[in-house]
Amino acid sequence: MFKALVIENDELGYRTSLQDVSEKQLPDQDVTLEVSYSTLNYKDALAICNKGPIVRQFPMVPGIDLVGRVISSRHPEWQQDDVALLTGWGVGEKQWGGLAQKASVSGDWLVKVPAALSPLQAMAIGTAGFTAMLCVLALEKQGVTPQHGPVLVTGASGGVGSFSVSLLSRLGYEVVASSGRASDSEYLLNTLGATAIIDRATLSEPGKPLAKERWAAAIDSVGSHTLANVLAGMQRDGVVAACGMAQGLDLPASVAPFILRGVTLTGVDSVMCARPLRQQAWQRLAGLVDSALLQQLTRVIPLSEAREGAEQLLAGSVRGRLVVDCR
Ligand code: NDP
Repeated sequence: MFKALVIENDELGYRTSLQDVSEKQLPDQDVTLEVSYSTLNYKDALAICNKGPIVRQFPMVPGIDLVGRVISSRHPEWQQDDVALLTGWGVGEKQWGGLAQKASVSGDWLVKVPAALSPLQAMAIGTAGFTAMLCVLALEKQGVTPQHGPVLVTGASGGVGSFSVSLLSRLGYEVVASSGRASDSEYLLNTLGATAIIDRATLSEPGKPLAKERWAAAIDSVGSHTLANVLAGMQRDGVVAACGMAQGLDLPASVAPFILRGVTLTGVDSVMCARPLRQQAWQRLAGLVDSALLQQLTRVIPLSEAREGAEQLLAGSVRGRLVVDCR
């Protein structure tokens, strides 16, 4: 038996509880891990608190991120005692996830934890940091360098946004942080390394198809009118990496930035992205992440407090990362 957070949805209603689960109930996948840490993402909080249609089948163990030690493997690449991490692939949504002491997953979904990162650090980075890294790689793939000019990050004080600001700053970019939290200016400027802040309200209302050319590149986790205004405000040949929908799933924009300024819009998906890109992103993160800052921004909670942590996350009272100790 092992401990797991379990979401059930039946005639008794939708409920999440910590339970003793038999190993026999684990999905039949080719690698079984002893989970050391998981993390609480916004998506996990929605699933745990029944605030969005995240979970596709029940009972479900939530947790879209996990790290742990391999205890048995039928997969050629993974041996007992290897330490591996997993983000995405529908784990915690369609497949049992990381908020448990054990997990059984496909070896094809796992990534070796880079030597420079501890398992705890890997989970402090989690899907949010990984997605930010994918966005940076997407900008680099389009040829963006710090010499091109300022890079805008929207949703800057959020999970993906704050990692984006920090990674870009460490790479030498001039980073403009768009945020609704004026009270967080100290955090955005001095802790994360932004060079300027703009009020997100200046981007969130319907705007013109083209605006003044301001940014060489952008990472957008907000979507909707914000993304439309970001596109309209790009410099000639600017590049925008879009990864989120905090304002909305819509994109009420025109083609003007594309056909009159050569702007590129590139999408980022961390859930199903291919393994070679995952490995590249984690290697880059290992070299780039500021471990002192990561520690400062991370709070570790036990599995028994994961539900409470999810509620705090949805209430907006968490800044930084909530790592769950599953041991
Ligand atoms: P967070 O909730 O941590 O951050 C989102 C931030 O967006 C907030 O902190 C806030 O920043 C800003 N924001 C929130 N609501 C609004 C609004 N109505 N209008 C404008 N800005 C708003 O979420 P994450 O960083 O974890 O995720 C951000 C987005 O990225 C989500 O939509 C998520 O689903 C998506 N995502 C996508 C992934 C992918 O693979 N493509 C992977 C991970 C996340 P501030 O207070 O600074 O304004």
